[in-house]
Amino acid sequence: LAKEGGHNYFQFYVASVDQEIRERKQLEKDLSIALHSQQFHLVYQPQINLETHRIIGAEALIRWEHPEKGLVPPDDFIPVAEMNGSIVEIGQWVLDQACWQAARWASDGMPLRIAINLSAVQLRQNNIVDEILDTLKRHNIPAGRLELEVTETSFMTNLEDAVKKLKRLHKAGISIAVDDFGTGYSSLTYLKRMPVQHLKIDKQFIRDLLVNEEDTRIANTIIDLGKSLNLTVVAEGVETAEQEYYLAQRGCKLAQGYYFSKPLKPHDFEVFVAGFHSKIVENNV
Ligand code: C2E
Ligand code: MG
Ligand code: MG
Ligand code: MG
Repeated sequence: LAKEGGHNYFQFYVASVDQEIRERKQLEKDLSIALHSQQFHLVYQPQINLETHRIIGAEALIRWEHPEKGLVPPDDFIPVAEMNGSIVEIGQWVLDQACWQAARWASDGMPLRIAINLSAVQLRQNNIVDEILDTLKRHNIPAGRLELEVTETSFMTNLEDAVKKLKRLHKAGISIAVDDFGTGYSSLTYLKRMPVQHLKIDKQFIRDLLVNEEDTRIANTIIDLGKSLNLTVVAEGVETAEQEYYLAQRGCKLAQGYYFSKPLKPHDFEVFVAGFHSKIVENNV
């Protein structure tokens, strides 16, 4: 009986792996036409200064409206795009689109800083720095309006190369944030060597803040680390008033999360800003 069970399991296993491969191939195929079929759009999540209660910027996040499957979450397709290299073209589109939006908002009297997620694969491209600076120029965006979010993995493959590129970007006026801080191979060496200005506490540590003692301690540690290294700390995934209150009094300067707003389409973002109880200030961090 056990043997039979094992046999069945084996068949099931083969069938599911086979299906996984097929689904993966289909996803790659769909992904290859998504960009040119205008299936991507960006949503924007406001970033709030907890001291001044002002909106200081927004993080741009990609959305894929698949013609049959509907909305496919970025966590399902960004890793695939990174593996087959299409993230380079998608990432360039994100940058271009976000800069276009930033220029439009600036001319409407809303000079927000826009943060975009830069994949480690993009950062490895030889011409990435020029491409970013050219895009800013093309849209007439001051470099101070752009923030790049990179993860700790970006530094791992070639630290020297990453340092060189981020330094050039930073010199031009672009700010650099370490995204999902605390989840990767955090090392104080790169924090010292990298021209980073912002640390984003990963939302997994914020979710159970004040409920889980360990998470609370980790969040505290990141806030203290930011203070001692003179880095602005951003909490992501803030969902409750208690979390906001705790983070604010603990000295975490910036936050984003569903408590303030989920990521919004441009028009809804404008409505949110108009209704927000405080005004926007230009680059106050
Ligand atoms: P991330 O950059 O760490 O973005 C934060 C994620 O948390 C976003 O998920 C956002 O929608 C979600 N989030 C924000 N506030 C809350 C909250 O209060 N509670 C909870 N539970 N979640 C919240 P999203 O948009 O699904 O993106 C997932 C990841 O996909 C991003 O994580 C980023 O790593 C990647 N990604 C998204 N857009 C891009 C892009 O344009 N380029 C690249 N390379 N990666 C992207
Ligand atoms: Mg991010
Ligand atoms: Mg993050
Ligand atoms: Mg993340």
